[in-house]
Amino acid sequence: MLSVPAHVDTLLAALRAAGYEAYPVGGCVRDSLMGRVPADWDICTSAPPAETERIFAGYRLVETGVKHGTVAVLTEGGLVEITTFRTDGTYADGRHPDRVTFVPDLKEDLARRDFTVNAMALAPDGTVIDPFGGREDLRSGIIRCVGDPDTRFHEDALRILRALRFAAKLDFEIDPATGASLVENRALLDRIARERVFSELKGLLVGPGAGRVLREYAPVIFQVIPELAAEEGFDQRNPHHVHDVWTHSTMAVDAAPPEPVLRLTMLLHDVAKPPCFFTDEAGVGHFYGHGERGAEMADGILRRLRCDNDTRERVCLLIANHDICPPQTPRAMRRLLAKVGEDAVRQLLACWRADCADRVQAVLATDTPWETLIGTAERILTELLAGPAPCFSVKSLAVNGRDILALGVEKGPAVGRILNELFAKVVDGTLPNQREALLEAASEMRGK
Ligand code: ATP
Ligand code: MG
Repeated sequence: MLSVPAHVDTLLAALRAAGYEAYPVGGCVRDSLMGRVPADWDICTSAPPAETERIFAGYRLVETGVKHGTVAVLTEGGLVEITTFRTDGTYADGRHPDRVTFVPDLKEDLARRDFTVNAMALAPDGTVIDPFGGREDLRSGIIRCVGDPDTRFHEDALRILRALRFAAKLDFEIDPATGASLVENRALLDRIARERVFSELKGLLVGPGAGRVLREYAPVIFQVIPELAAEEGFDQRNPHHVHDVWTHSTMAVDAAPPEPVLRLTMLLHDVAKPPCFFTDEAGVGHFYGHGERGAEMADGILRRLRCDNDTRERVCLLIANHDICPPQTPRAMRRLLAKVGEDAVRQLLACWRADCADRVQAVLATDTPWETLIGTAERILTELLAGPAPCFSVKSLAVNGRDILALGVEKGPAVGRILNELFAKVVDGTLPNQREALLEAASEMRGK
């Protein structure tokens, strides 16, 4: 017996009191059966959209989906989507159903849903309505299309990435027939809006099964990010690296904390390794400049995928700096902080750790293990932040423009120049971030 939260129960009761069928459906049933707390609850009903609107006239309604039969009702427990039983008709463009057809029967509504584990509803007595074996697949950890996979992926190619996303998120396997079909039909993804592709990709990357899914379904990933294809099988000819670049990247994804920025960074961090590759006289492979070059490539990829600007800029900053040595002195750390800021330095520490997760420790006895270098950098960061008047930007100097003007400096570019010079000295460690010392140094600079 599965329980339904009160705010959902209230809506179900209102629909049923009006003479309609109504069921919690899809992800919330799946998550409840798995013992997880559903992120949101969806309801399907025999009530036509106009009836749903009438029944919930006292609520705030969000009506963006009415054409497809969805009315969203704002309750004290959050937004609940109520969708009229429907089939999706045909999909001439492989993206949007040409028209939806409302149907009288729950079973038909369940049949249009993507995967068996997403095609279950909850009956009023708390039992599960499961015509496609969703519970069995849930128990065995399997993502399987409802119906014939080829047909379903042709109807809506986004399901190809949704299958990967659910496999990563739930840490499930994809049924062999479904898996073979989605790889075979991957070119259909070209027709899907990039923002929808990106949204599924992000969901995939933060899942606990991300690395495995990326490896198993690499051709699908290369369909949406062709730049990564050159990584597969790319032998680094470097004693630190035992895996090819693609395998390494997928392992680095798993090793990073499950946040979109960090996982996107690890997915793309070595994208420029193949174009930057050269071997030295000893036959050892190197990739000088692959951080900067990789950041440029990632910028292009993420723009194409309609990634939001904040994420794109941060991912590119991290990629551009992922191949520098973790700062080993307070001065080097202050410089990095001044260059990228505190948040990005913390993220870089996570990226460096993820990047060396599969690295073989060097053959040369003189090499310091990466873990040690990263640990030292982290300790220095902590000490700097705990120390007196930490200063990693002009703004956090212990003096400001008004102080400089008060010294008799003329209003204009000279003020900014002096502040920048002071900041450079603080970063360098030649001046403390203390008001008196800064004012004294500024007075000297004023004369120049
Ligand atoms: P999540 O917890 O990740 O949101 P979810 O199962 O709720 O998982 P949604 O994308 O919110 O996923 O979709 C809700 C339900 O609608 C799904 O469970 C599935 O039944 C159905 N569905 C969504 N998108 C599709 C699609 N492209 N094709 C078929 N059915 C779909
Ligand atoms: Mg959902």
